[in-house]
Amino acid sequence: MPEIFLNGRFVAPEQATVSVMDRGFLFGDGVYEVIPAYHGRTLRADEHLDRLDHSLAGIRMANPLARADWAAVFERLLAGIPAPRQAIYVQVTRGAPPVRDHRFGPEAPAPTVLAMAKTVPARDPALAERGIAAIVRDDPRWKRCDLKVVSLVAAVLLQQDAADADALETILVRDGLAVEASTSNLFIVRDGCILTPPKDWRLLPGITRDLVLDLAREASLPFEEADIPAETLSQADEVWITSSTREVMPVTRIDDSTIGDGRPGPVWRHIDGLYQAYKARLAAGATSG
Ligand code: PMP
Repeated sequence: MPEIFLNGRFVAPEQATVSVMDRGFLFGDGVYEVIPAYHGRTLRADEHLDRLDHSLAGIRMANPLARADWAAVFERLLAGIPAPRQAIYVQVTRGAPPVRDHRFGPEAPAPTVLAMAKTVPARDPALAERGIAAIVRDDPRWKRCDLKVVSLVAAVLLQQDAADADALETILVRDGLAVEASTSNLFIVRDGCILTPPKDWRLLPGITRDLVLDLAREASLPFEEADIPAETLSQADEVWITSSTREVMPVTRIDDSTIGDGRPGPVWRHIDGLYQAYKARLAAGATSG
């Protein structure tokens, strides 16, 4: 039976309830993580927990659990839903004070700590065959996009805009630069070189992004962390998005432009092969993630 970890206890889903005074509910005042796992083995859990620490520090909260405790929670949740592909969702909010007040002050209540796991379906082979469509929008978000905060209404609207246009992602432009997408990081390939924007406040420091760069480095594929002017997107040879649940996904249409020859490109095939091999080693216990 799937269990949910809530505030130190494993409970059945119907028992996993939080107060309407919870600041996550009232203000979106909290942070989260999504950690992929394969056959019960988490992918780069340490890096995800580092990013959780970064997000918590960014909203002036401490991590309520030690690393070993998080690891034990993840292990138990994943064991409850055995599957080839799984994902753990972690959320920490600033708890439920007696009154609604934007200020949290020194007497913030105990945080609300949630973790739950789900199975993730195998990738649709048609998506990898044809690639996905994306649209482009000006980035409406705030200036701390490096924090993984639960206030996600901008991403909600941007994802719906994409769905309304029969697309699967929205690429975001700030000051003329394509920075990332609404739920994923952005890569392009130009003249054989893999490009992705450098990490700063404009984008989430994606764990999949860093893994892709590590794989490119190991395979001696040329890559660079560099700004991507929005007007160069449609001329790229390849465009990809990356995230923990979508892995590395080729984008073959952006608004009305076809990318490359309209099919996933050779550099994507190479990186995707390396990524799938990395996952296979992880699932077999041959790497620690
Ligand atoms: N950017 C944004 C805005 C995201 O929400 C996500 C995760 N869904 C990513 C990038 C990708 O991060 P990761 O590879 O760590 O999943």
